Amino acid sequence: MHITADTLLNALRSQGMRITDARIQICEEIAERHGEHLTATAISETVDANESTVYRTLEVLEQAGIVEHSHMGHGPAVYHLAEDSDHHHLVCERCGRAEALPAAAYEALVAGITAETGFVPTSRHFALTGLCSRCKAENT
Ligand SMILES: [Zn+2]
Ligand SMILES: [Zn+2]
Ligand SMILES: [Zn+2]
Repeated sequence: MHITADTLLNALRSQGMRITDARIQICEEIAERHGEHLTATAISETVDANESTVYRTLEVLEQAGIVEHSHMGHGPAVYHLAEDSDHHHLVCERCGRAEALPAAAYEALVAGITAETGFVPTSRHFALTGLCSRCKAENT
């Protein structure tokens, strides 16, 4: 399934949101740039809408289960389509580069934590921070 701006607009409608020009542009931007890690600021810079409109729209799309956000270290939250969220994030503390960790690798990590402690981490909400292979190589 590939999500289009119409799918996003229908989700807004189903949450009782009025469809404005700004929201149409926001939805088109999200659909077009799927696969990217978008911040509300990045969206508001390319569409004719202020940041609070973008935040509110993302929030409603998230309530509808069609968009998810995660945190990449200290920076602002980034947004994905839920269908593109099949990975965990690794963020380099030195150069800021973000990499995707396939879900299966993350699940193996979670299984290890659960086996050791009984604790079940549930969310891909926060990135793992550390040193990327490039910065690690420079460091040694
Ligand atoms: Zn991602
Ligand atoms: Zn959050
Ligand atoms: Zn790095």
